[in-house]
Amino acid sequence: MRLLLVEDDKQLGDGICAGLGLEGFTVDWVHDGNSAEAVLQKDRFDIVVLDLGLPQRSGIDILKDLRERGNTTPVLVLTARDTVTDRINGLDSGGDDYMTKPFDLDELNARIRALLRRSMGHVAPFVQHGPIMLDPAAHAVTVDGQAVDVSPREFVILRALLTNAGQVLSRTRLEEALYGWGTDVESNAVEVHIHHLRKKLGGSLIRTVRGVGYMVDKADS
Ligand code: CA
Repeated sequence: MRLLLVEDDKQLGDGICAGLGLEGFTVDWVHDGNSAEAVLQKDRFDIVVLDLGLPQRSGIDILKDLRERGNTTPVLVLTARDTVTDRINGLDSGGDDYMTKPFDLDELNARIRALLRRSMGHVAPFVQHGPIMLDPAAHAVTVDGQAVDVSPREFVILRALLTNAGQVLSRTRLEEALYGWGTDVESNAVEVHIHHLRKKLGGSLIRTVRGVGYMVDKADS
């Protein structure tokens, strides 16, 4: 089992690495936000233990980007402050569980085991938006139950827009989501994919916000 630890506190990181090593995990440890982002785009892990307060990039941003790229690796969030807002933020951004510092290493190990058990069943949450349904595990899209054929990159863009419905996403943000696919992103790639998605899903779903980016309105509930 390969685990990524993202933690800038040396002493705490040493403790976690030692404890998890005894449990039989192969632990990769990075100490800042940029390194975490780089390694997560490149490598696959069975689980990620992610501190929120990091140099360069916050854990929340890393988590959001990871989920936008369609990555469903289980993430256990470490928060320094026990505030309700922090916990809600961590879970809303795609965290699967959290622990507040200071914590007991045995409890951390137990929670990691529980997350791994759950992830074996691959419970990638479906994304529903009006008649549109995304299945992240199967990379499938249906509209009113009818399958719509979208490319993997179109899927990534659609997923980013739907999971952030009501917010404008810049072209740069959408390009970043595409980088997870390990190929160079051509300068007009986002426009081309949006064009295709509009043809497949109707022209009114994805709006262009001039000079800012693209957005999908929140679905009526
Ligand atoms: Ca920290």
